[in-house]
Amino acid sequence: MKSTQFERAIFISWYCSKRDCKFCYLSSRKNTKQDPIKDRRSLPSILAEAIICKACSWKVEFISGGCDTYTDKELLNIIKHIHNITRQKQWLNLGILNEKQLKLFKPYTEGICGTVECITPRLRDKICPSKPLKEIEDMFKTATKLNLKKTITLILGLGETIQDFKYLKSFIKKHNLQRITFYRLKPQKNTFFEKKKPIASKYYREWINLTRKEFPKIKIVVGSWLTHLDEIHLLLNAGADTITKFPSIRKFNTKYAKTIEKEAKLANRKFIGTLTKVPKINTKDLDKKIKIQLEKYLKRMKNN
Ligand code: SF4
Repeated sequence: MKSTQFERAIFISWYCSKRDCKFCYLSSRKNTKQDPIKDRRSLPSILAEAIICKACSWKVEFISGGCDTYTDKELLNIIKHIHNITRQKQWLNLGILNEKQLKLFKPYTEGICGTVECITPRLRDKICPSKPLKEIEDMFKTATKLNLKKTITLILGLGETIQDFKYLKSFIKKHNLQRITFYRLKPQKNTFFEKKKPIASKYYREWINLTRKEFPKIKIVVGSWLTHLDEIHLLLNAGADTITKFPSIRKFNTKYAKTIEKEAKLANRKFIGTLTKVPKINTKDLDKKIKIQLEKYLKRMKNN
């Protein structure tokens, strides 16, 4: 029996120097003041989340944050700590990283993520005006040189059509990607896409189908949303490997979490880990600040 698993992106900041990707929540706050020191998570809170990921057998999808929040030294410290907790090398989704940074993070890093989001030429320039594809491609060349793996994120529902799959196909081939994460657009308030109609599950499935057919070995991660969780079995059957983009602490053991586990069953997959049983974690030897955060998260999970 094939298996599947939940993968959680660990967000480390809500600061971003770009703030103009048309779908992003941060673009709705373009004119509000931001501060890279204030708009970041505390280390104990990040690490408490990593401990929960390990205890629930959620793979850390990647360490994710807005551009230019941390110094290299601070980032290295976070990556090292998460690596120590999970005992796994991490994927980094932290904007464009240069060769010096990639070399620095490499001992704890499995691969890097290019936030492509939209692969359709010209449309992409409008949607992500400050994230030129060329910068991602250059970063991938450096990653290849350093023997790091590569992945991208792609959001469906931004105005692309299934005919644009050809662009994705050639991009995956060109950069020899080992992994790809698909999301469905979740329209955010006060953004350009606020009133955008959600894509149909059938359309989402088609993208997964084509990707799997063209790339039998690539790892496919799929993100749905609370409104469309009943599409997960379709996506798994079409060839997706794992599931992401679910507020797994906030919605732990809710009807939504139960639906995801049921959807895995429906697709005849063994669900590794849990979204419904609160794990027992030995907090005895933990740093006091991490322990306080961890207990806060566990309490939230228990109270659902
Ligand atoms: S770079 Fe990422 S965090 Fe920054 S605005 Fe774009 S999508 Fe949002």
